Amino acid sequence: MVVLDHVDKHYGSLHVLQDINLSIRRGEVVVVIGPSGSGKSTLCRTINRLETIDSGSIMLEGQPLPQEGKQLAKLRADVGMVFQSFNLFAHKTILENVTLGPTKVRKQSKSAAEKKARELLDRVGVGPQADKYPAQLSGGQQQRVAIARALAMEPKVMLFDEPTSALDPEMIKEVLDVMVDLAKQGMTMIVVTHEMGFARTAADRVVFMADGQIVEENTPEEFFTNPRSDRARDFLGKIL
Ligand code: ATP
Ligand code: MG
Repeated sequence: MVVLDHVDKHYGSLHVLQDINLSIRRGEVVVVIGPSGSGKSTLCRTINRLETIDSGSIMLEGQPLPQEGKQLAKLRADVGMVFQSFNLFAHKTILENVTLGPTKVRKQSKSAAEKKARELLDRVGVGPQADKYPAQLSGGQQQRVAIARALAMEPKVMLFDEPTSALDPEMIKEVLDVMVDLAKQGMTMIVVTHEMGFARTAADRVVFMADGQIVEENTPEEFFTNPRSDRARDFLGKIL
């Protein structure tokens, strides 16, 4: 589904992604963890081409990522992304936030897009908020809207970059529950998170990054109980 092959990227003299090889199957849930600055966000951003790479290749369903134009807009629609900050359009209602992409990029009719949007908002538990503005919602509600907005594009894969780290503790679970549901329904997901509960329940595989490299990959059980590398052991010692 998503294949990264010998991907390298630099920011000036910083070698931020070093020979990244990663292959994600359809329906697979991969959790990416690692210390701050290890390149996790950069990795996500290369997959929807918010960042370019210096060498290597990234393929989505067997096709290289497009470079520009309409094809690039389609790629962004195929690769849903949810960030730490919810990035909703402040001056649009919740419903408008969710229908904008489908009407503009997917060329759906307004009525079809609204019907779908209301279903998705119900599914993530914010149906009653549809006509409000983002600032009128809690952080947890806004993040669930951001997930619904990404899903409205019918993405092939969903990327989550620390989706709960800006949330108050009591709101983390409501967002993780939506993500666990999504995983159960077979969505292909790449999730940067330090939420070990999520990793244990939902992840098929944990990828541990440090200094721009994939240091270790394993099932969650193996990774958390029996990390192989010193760096992973060190890291887990700090966060668990
Ligand atoms: P965190 O856990 O703090 O979110 P991360 O693993 O997501 O960290 P990245 O945001 O991918 O790390 O950053 C990796 C490295 O690249 C860091 O050293 C960061 O300072 C650097 N970096 C990120 N974006 C840029 C940029 N646009 N220009 C220059 N350097 C950058
Ligand atoms: Mg990051």
